[in-house]
Amino acid sequence: MIKLENIHKTFDNNQVLNGIDLTIAKGEVIVLIGPSGCGKSTLLRCINGLESVSEGKIWIDGIDITGKRVNWQRIRQKVGMVFQSYNLYPHLTVLDNLILSPVRVQKKTKKEAVEIALSLLERVGLSDKRNAYPAQLSGGQQQRIAIARSLAMRPDVMLFDEVTSALDPELVKEVLDVMLDLAREGMTMVIVTHEMGFAKAAADRVVFLSGGAVIEEGPPELFFEAPKDERVKQFLNRVL
Ligand code: ADP
Ligand code: MG
Repeated sequence: MIKLENIHKTFDNNQVLNGIDLTIAKGEVIVLIGPSGCGKSTLLRCINGLESVSEGKIWIDGIDITGKRVNWQRIRQKVGMVFQSYNLYPHLTVLDNLILSPVRVQKKTKKEAVEIALSLLERVGLSDKRNAYPAQLSGGQQQRIAIARSLAMRPDVMLFDEVTSALDPELVKEVLDVMLDLAREGMTMVIVTHEMGFAKAAADRVVFLSGGAVIEEGPPELFFEAPKDERVKQFLNRVL
């Protein structure tokens, strides 16, 4: 579903990604971890085209998104992304947040878009909030709506960048539970998180990034129980 080949990314003189190779199968759940500033967000942003790569190739479902003529509208619909800040439209109700892009971008009828939106609201457990405005919701609820809004575009891949980092601790689980459900339903996901319990439960593969390179990767059992690289051991000692 996703293939990264020799990805380099440089900002000015700062080499952030330093030759990343990664292949992600359809339905696979990757948890990407590593020290602050190691390039996790940059890598996600390259995968959905928010950043261009300096060198290397990225394919999404067979489409080369590092080529010359990329249909970005198509790629953005294939690849959903949710960030730490929820970025819901504050002046729109929950339901209108969910149907905006399907109607405007995908040219769905309002009826169709509402149907999809309502089923997604049920899925994230917020059917009763359809007419609420974002400011009337808790952070955890807003983040669940942000996930539903992204899913409303029917993406093939979902990228999550520290989506629970800004939440009060008691609201983290409700968001992680939505992501865990998605993972179990077979969504292809790349998740940056500091929640190691979640990584153990949800990941098919944990990928550790340091200095812009993949230092170690493996299934969570092996990765957490028997890390090999010294940098991984030190990181896990700090966070576990
Ligand atoms: P992480 O998400 O792992 O904490 P980031 O990908 O956000 O790391 O950042 C990696 C490095 O790239 C940092 O040194 C950061 O300052 C730099 N960086 C990220 N985005 C930009 C940008 N748009 N312009 C310049 N430097 C950037
Ligand atoms: Mg980041």
